Amino acid sequence: MSLAYTTETQFAISAVQRACLVTSSVFNKLVKNETLVKGDKSPVTVGDYSAQAVISSMLHRAFPNDPIVGEEDAADLRAENGALLRNRIVELANEALSAELGIGDIPEWGIGPGSKQTADELLDAIDRGNYEGGRSGRMWTIDPIDGTKGFLRGEQYAVCLALIVDAQVQVGVLGCPNLPLDLSKPDGDKGCLFVAVKGQGAQQMKLNGADPIPLTMPPYSPSTFTFLESVEAAHSSHSTTSRISAILGLTQPPIRMDSQAKYGCLARGDGGAYLRMPTGVGYKEKIWDHATGSLLVTESGGIITDSRGHPLDFGLGRTLGENYGVIATAKDAHDRLLSAVQEVVKQEQEEAASK
Ligand code: AMP
Ligand code: MG
Repeated sequence: MSLAYTTETQFAISAVQRACLVTSSVFNKLVKNETLVKGDKSPVTVGDYSAQAVISSMLHRAFPNDPIVGEEDAADLRAENGALLRNRIVELANEALSAELGIGDIPEWGIGPGSKQTADELLDAIDRGNYEGGRSGRMWTIDPIDGTKGFLRGEQYAVCLALIVDAQVQVGVLGCPNLPLDLSKPDGDKGCLFVAVKGQGAQQMKLNGADPIPLTMPPYSPSTFTFLESVEAAHSSHSTTSRISAILGLTQPPIRMDSQAKYGCLARGDGGAYLRMPTGVGYKEKIWDHATGSLLVTESGGIITDSRGHPLDFGLGRTLGENYGVIATAKDAHDRLLSAVQEVVKQEQEEAASK
């Protein structure tokens, strides 16, 4: 019997690898070599659009009927004053699409030498990411550069692609060009690709696909257990994490890292839990920020829920709807972590009410 989603998995690897060519090129050309003023988001903008253009135009060739939930749309690029940005994006996207074919690459996906697209084709590809999502059928979700702040700092970011079928994530691929293959060797080889397929496990490999290793999350170990959390305090409440950490008696400081690279790290045994505690009321998590990561967690043997213990629901549209925050950890750690989370949430609610 052949395994399910083999073509989709090979495709997702190939698309993420090509998008990583774009983001690395943008980093080297724009972030490193140009004088950026503080808060200048232009490299992120260029990288985001170009990477989404690459993945989306490949998707259109490979799976023309599959809708896409992508973070970006091309409205600004179509404007009269968008010409400069547009030209740059066309150049970068075509550079990646026309790069040499690698193992597993199929020319019919619109890739390989000579595979260039017009500006209009690339803008249309970006705009194909406008699907509203939903509970039934197939759809792909793309986060072309997750962790944009990390990208600008030269730290962690991830290119994320997932296939969702009837609200269940079936295939997830994460490209992390700056992530060390081994977190304990920060100066060692960098560049990881994480691949998960529902029911078939999770793997880490080098960015070029070499040296795949299966991932299994280790069981709870009190002496080494710590949290992987956002660098940005606006995305995940650091103070809440630190209270939870105190209740559990953790001795290690949290590992702060941008993007879904946290999920890849968790799946391979770094830290012990991914914790994302809401910083205020109302922020709705986006499906592209968690689809790939959630499958990496479950396929490496872990559990993922929101901060109330509810399963993440990818069938509600472009957001996770009423899911707030994320708790992902090994099976034997989830209950105790959820209890500590609930205790702290209660404390915080009581403090807020008494103010
Ligand atoms: P991270 O690198 O884990 O902090 O996650 C980056 C993602 O956080 C971005 O892609 C945003 O979509 C998302 N984000 C933006 N604002 C918030 C917020 N207030 N709470 C949680 N996540 C957010
Ligand atoms: Mg993101």
